[in-house]
Order: sequence, then structure tokens, then C-alpha cells
Amino acid sequence: MVSFEVARRLVERHAASVGPGEIETVDLLAGLGRVLAEGILADRDFPPFDRATRDGYAVLAADLAEVPARLEVVGEVKAGDWPEPGVCSVGRGQAVGIMTGAPLPAGADAVVMVEYTSLDPLAGKSVEVRRSVSRGENFVPRGAEARAEQLLLDRGRRLDHVGIAIAASVGKSRVQVFRKPRVAVLSTGDEVVEIDAAPGAAQIRNSNSYSLAAQVQAAGGEAVRLAIAPDERGRLRVLIEEGLGCDLLLLTGGVSMGKYDLVEQVLGELKAKFYFTGAEIQPGRPVVFGSCAAKTLVGFDGASAACTRTEVSEPHQRYFFGLPGNPVSTMVTFKLFARPMIEALAGMTPQPLAFLSARLKTEIRTKTGLKRFLPAVLSGEFENAEVELVRWQGSGDIATLVRANCYVVIPPERERIDAGEWVSLLMRAG
Ligand code: AMP
Ligand code: MG
Repeated sequence: MVSFEVARRLVERHAASVGPGEIETVDLLAGLGRVLAEGILADRDFPPFDRATRDGYAVLAADLAEVPARLEVVGEVKAGDWPEPGVCSVGRGQAVGIMTGAPLPAGADAVVMVEYTSLDPLAGKSVEVRRSVSRGENFVPRGAEARAEQLLLDRGRRLDHVGIAIAASVGKSRVQVFRKPRVAVLSTGDEVVEIDAAPGAAQIRNSNSYSLAAQVQAAGGEAVRLAIAPDERGRLRVLIEEGLGCDLLLLTGGVSMGKYDLVEQVLGELKAKFYFTGAEIQPGRPVVFGSCAAKTLVGFDGASAACTRTEVSEPHQRYFFGLPGNPVSTMVTFKLFARPMIEALAGMTPQPLAFLSARLKTEIRTKTGLKRFLPAVLSGEFENAEVELVRWQGSGDIATLVRANCYVVIPPERERIDAGEWVSLLMRAG
């Protein structure tokens, strides 16, 4: 049994030793949520010209040292126009009408906002300006955001809408990304049945394979759901060996201290190495992490959309997590431990796990000894967010978890936390 922090660091250390699979090229929008296998560079300066950030007049700041001042209007540039120097430029005592996004004409060194000006109503040939401006005000100089050839997006970055915008702005209609890691999901338990079966009186449907598949996808992996393993050594072993053919194996159930919790035993028979068996957390204390030699490789046949299995002569090491079967424990331990491994297998640069803070609305009393991740609701508005535990029936209670949007993180030494104290929290999403 190790502390939460030691367990997390162990996973991070092992995750640093794995790398992504092959590279593929996809259309830009299909790259959303994928991990870049190439760095993306600025193809020119950003902005590519001195870009006005206000509607108004391009001026010489020195002409507005004393205001009000009257300037001669010698032209206009709208977004998309190119002010040819000599044809449209600003000299002493002159101004050029300019719109947001338009290039600053030669000679000008500032833009004065239209709100502070009055155009001569008859001829429109002169403008009165009521406010001074400083040099450089209201435009972004060419190259101030990025220089041509500058790295804008690193290899290893997962593409979100901002990354998509950057790739689009440099003309990358197709991007190179890493293949998603294949993550085998293996639920165990004699009581667990497929979700389209009618469960018997003592049976429950296999929700864990689905929640895990969803979490795997959200983390950037491709879930491979295996058949349910009964609490029986032979069949469990066959399915574990099958799962080890993927890039990572996630098991749920069968890792506690019960007489029929066989996962560790079977992995032991397969000569697995265990890096931790149990972490001082709640929910999720029985979680195990290790690696095991595998003889099968699971691939994916794009044409038939089916998994292919190949026997290899040189066994390869595969990591696995044995997650507890209680559905909330499964979800929490996935988030705390399995996610960083999937991200590493996807080629992502490691991300530290950082907790947020909020004020506690109602006091918490608990027992010491474990770091607790308790379902809670973050509510309130703007700067007045507050968090409160939900009343739940323990780590099997997904009906309550769905109403929570975060977990309050309680340090192992705390027995009581008063209302109004700042507490750490982990958002539930992902
Ligand atoms: P275990 O970790 O095998 O002792 O299981 C703990 C609890 O989680 C038991 O109540 C199981 O019935 C439940 N459970 C185990 N596997 C699943 C699953 N795949 N889907 C939903 N609940 C499960
Ligand atoms: Mg079980």
C-alpha cells in the first residue's frame, strides 16, 4: 500500500518510458482531440502587417500632443485593403480612416478611436480629434504575436479549438497526429452481465466497461472492450492475455481481498510485475498497477473495422491497471492513475495533476488515514463559487455521482473541515 502521491508518481515515472504509435495524417477538424506528431510553425509573421485593433483614424501621435486638433483626412483603409505607400500614407497634420483588421498606412504610428473624433460634416475632408494617443496605440505591429518560422504548436500537444485555430491560421488543412493507443477494457465478476441481457435476480449489468471506454476515448485512446471475465482462473487468464495484446490493459473488479478476487493471482501466474497493490485513497483503495510480458499483438484492420491478433516470438511488456469494480472507484482510479498512462501512450507531453480550490459550503467530518475524493457539487456564480459534498451511498452509487460535478479532495490527516474553509477539488469531467 502506498500513498496517493507515491502511486501517482510511480505511474508518471513509468508513463515517461512509453511512447506513441505510428503517425497518420488527418483533416484538420478530424484532428480535434488528437495529439500532434509534428510541430506547427508560423508560415509568415503574425500579424502579417501592422494591424489596426480599432475603427478610427491612423495618425501621427505627435500631431495629437495638444487636443482638440484638426487633421486633414487623406484616405481610407478597410480590412482587406492594402495601403500602397505613396498613394495612401500619413504625413504631418494628416489622418487616414482605418477599420479594425486593416493594415496601418506608412507614416502613421497610432490609431485614434473613432469615438473620440468628429468628421467635418460637409466635405468630410478633415477630422477633429479630442483625445491624444501614444505611439503604438491601437495597432499590433507586424510579427509581434509570432515571427515567421516560429514554433506555435509543439509536437505532443493535444489539439483543442485553440490549436485548431492556430493550425488553420497557418494553412494546415491536414495535420500529422499519432495513432490512438488501443486500450483493452476487461470487466470481471460472475455477477456481471452484458448490458443487453436481462439480468437475473443477483446479477448486475456491466456499466464499467462502458464508463471506462468513454473515459479512454476522452483521454485520447481507443477502447477495445473484451468479453466479461467470470471469477474463474482459466477464462480470466485467457482474457487477460488477450488484453495484454493492446497497448494498455484496464481490468475492473476482482482486485479486492475477497475469496473470488482472482485478478492479482492470475497476473502473478503470468509473472506480472506489480509497482503498487493498493493506494491510500477512498474510493479506490484496492487499485493495482503493474506490467506483464505479452505474446499477442492486437492490431486494427481499418477496412473491416475488426481487431486482428498476431502471435509474436519476442514477448513485449505491457502495462496494466487493476481498478476496483465499484463503479465510482473505477472512474476515480481511472482519472487519477490510468489517464496519464493513456496520454503518454498517445504521445502527449505529460500534464501535472493540479487541483482547484473553492470554499466549502457545509462542514465535512470524516476519518483519517486515506486521501478522499468525495463527490461534490460546485455551485455559486462568478467569484463566489462554493462546494458541498453530495450525500451518497458509497462507491457503487452512480445515480448520485451523476449530480456531482467534482470531487472534494480531503487530505488523509483531516478529520473535520469547517464550512468556509478553502478545499481542493478535482473536476469530474474527463
Ligand atoms: P469487486 O471489485 O469485484 O469486488 O466488485 C465491487 C463491486 O462492484 C461489486 O458490487 C460488483 O458487483 C461491482 N462491479 C464489479 N464489476 C462491475 C461492472 N463491470 N459494472 C458494474 N459494477 C461492477
Ligand atoms: Mg468481483
